[in-house]
Amino acid sequence: MKATVNEDCIGCGMCEGTCPDVFAINDDGVAEATVEEVPADAEDAAQEAADNCPVSAIEVE
Ligand code: SF4
Repeated sequence: MKATVNEDCIGCGMCEGTCPDVFAINDDGVAEATVEEVPADAEDAAQEAADNCPVSAIEVE
């Protein structure tokens, strides 16, 4: 699974709280994926973060 954050992110921080293994708020105040490939044990959390992002800025595939 891969995860990306698009330009719609408003920097709310939810994804970092839900799945800190994959998402972090960067110096620009928006989230980014910190890994290319989502670790297998973080896939459920990454999907949950994508489902719950208030602006649907997270894409997982
Ligand atoms: S949950 Fe969505 S809007 Fe909030 S920081 Fe993460 S990607 Fe950005």
